[in-house]
Amino acid sequence: MSSKIRLLNHDVINKIAAGEVIENPSSVVKELVENSLDAGATEITVEIKGGGRQLIRITDNGCGMSPEDAALCLERHATSKIHDIDDLSTLVTMGFRGEALASIASVSKFTLVTRQAEDPVDLGTLVVVEGGKLLQSTSAARSPGTTIEIKSLFDNVPVRKKFLKSPAHDGAEVFKVMSVMALGNPDVKFQLIRDGKNVLNAPVTKGGLKERVGSVLGKEFFKACLPVESETIHGFVGNPSYTRHNRLGQYLFINRRAVISPVISRAVREGFGTTIPAGRFPVFVLHWDMPTFDVDVNVHPQKKEVRLRDEEGVIHTVREAISRSLRKKEAPQPVVASTFTRPPVYHPKPAPAPTVCESVVTYAVEEEVVHPEFKWTVEVAGPQVMTTVQGFILAEPEDGGGILLIDQKRAHHRILFEKMNKADGRAAMQTLAVPIQIDLTPIEADVMRQNLERLETFGFSIREFSKQAFLVDAIPQSFSNIDVGAMIKDIMEDLQVYPVAADGVREKQFARIALRGTISSQSKLSLPEAQELVKKLWNCQDKDQCPSAHRTWVLLDGEKLRELV
Ligand code: ADP
Ligand code: MG
Repeated sequence: MSSKIRLLNHDVINKIAAGEVIENPSSVVKELVENSLDAGATEITVEIKGGGRQLIRITDNGCGMSPEDAALCLERHATSKIHDIDDLSTLVTMGFRGEALASIASVSKFTLVTRQAEDPVDLGTLVVVEGGKLLQSTSAARSPGTTIEIKSLFDNVPVRKKFLKSPAHDGAEVFKVMSVMALGNPDVKFQLIRDGKNVLNAPVTKGGLKERVGSVLGKEFFKACLPVESETIHGFVGNPSYTRHNRLGQYLFINRRAVISPVISRAVREGFGTTIPAGRFPVFVLHWDMPTFDVDVNVHPQKKEVRLRDEEGVIHTVREAISRSLRKKEAPQPVVASTFTRPPVYHPKPAPAPTVCESVVTYAVEEEVVHPEFKWTVEVAGPQVMTTVQGFILAEPEDGGGILLIDQKRAHHRILFEKMNKADGRAAMQTLAVPIQIDLTPIEADVMRQNLERLETFGFSIREFSKQAFLVDAIPQSFSNIDVGAMIKDIMEDLQVYPVAADGVREKQFARIALRGTISSQSKLSLPEAQELVKKLWNCQDKDQCPSAHRTWVLLDGEKLRELV
């Protein structure tokens, strides 16, 4: 009898691991930038081409590697960061599993050039690996630090390649990763060059975190943010009028590590009390310095979730810090915000001297980037809302004569429609924190398969999970609080009825999809929500009618009012 069980060879093991750690270009960038940070780099430059498929190149001025380490670092479970299990409880580095480089090198053409500061200039090391096979390992000259270049990502793993999104999408994801890294490490200079253009420029400045927040999240937030300062928390929150309809504007770092904590998000929200309406979420960048003993970062394979020892205490501290900063907002504020001390890096070698401070904040952000925070528009305020009644908003016209009666549902429909139906033919997306699985009938699944591309232009990012199940990773940015599964099922039905993507049909589909995300005429809006809606309607290209060609508003002037009574 022959045995069915077989030990997998190294190459297969690495490729499986790559599937877990390395999903797309942005996860490659994340792993490599984390390595640079762990190496004590103060300057990190990332270059990508074709959304990262053609090229990802990361250059740092960190501690570099010896020739021995340069060879070893590509072995699986090779790490300089922990030696035994006890080290996990005092971990201050980003990585520790020793998997990233081996995984990445197994699914790409990988080149590493590195040198330690203490080694002679020409005794750096060059290592070339292709699909996990070592092709070259020689001495090479370079300045102290490390450069890693990745080409042909996933070329040898067709399945994974098939699941890559468009280069534009992948590029935007890399941008997000870099933004998070830059917000988490204000004392490190970050640069992202995308297809030859410098799209993110975050120098180290005297303004510390506040200027960093400005250079990454834009000047609007920079102007609208309030400092949060307590013994353990530093950072900024948007003032109560600067909120969003989702949590995408919430950046939380514990010991410089970007984390998601629904508990802390909720505590921040509670700190705002009743100053922001229901359904809106505060925007914040908060840094927490916590003894490593109090936080367990090892609970999640992608290390994005943390477990806190003293949740109650944490909630209390956050709530207090936020409400204190809101109370203080009337008082004049110091110009320069918090200074940051980084927790020590693991590498025993000293980090290079910090770069010279530059005092200008650069807002180098490309227009085309999908990320919502980076779009600046000039807006009009719109008429002043007086009250709401039965699905209508009553507002005072700008010239004061009469009453404007605005239909909230039709207004919202128009707003969503215009947001989706962008000139560039692609609606902006918002990534879901957790993908939503939808199960379809075989016929629906077939329709879905044929329409994945098209749904992407509507702002959905959906991938096949199994024969009849799909995973929704992103939905149109303009939607909030909707039943995604139900909406997609509806859209599938639509697509079966209107299978052609002719121009007029596309518009009608946008209109129908937008209608599904629309608030009902029954829902009661708070005054700030109504004001926001009116403002958005007044900033629409065609504010006078909804996409189904019904009027969005009427003016009741003196004459009409007299007719009524
Ligand atoms: P981990 O970060 O979990 O240790 P990686 O596979 O990401 O595993 O990296 C393996 C090792 O290679 C690291 O522990 C580190 O010693 C070394 N290394 C990786 N990138 C760099 C870099 N940019 N500078 C210096 N050393 C690095
Ligand atoms: Mg690592």
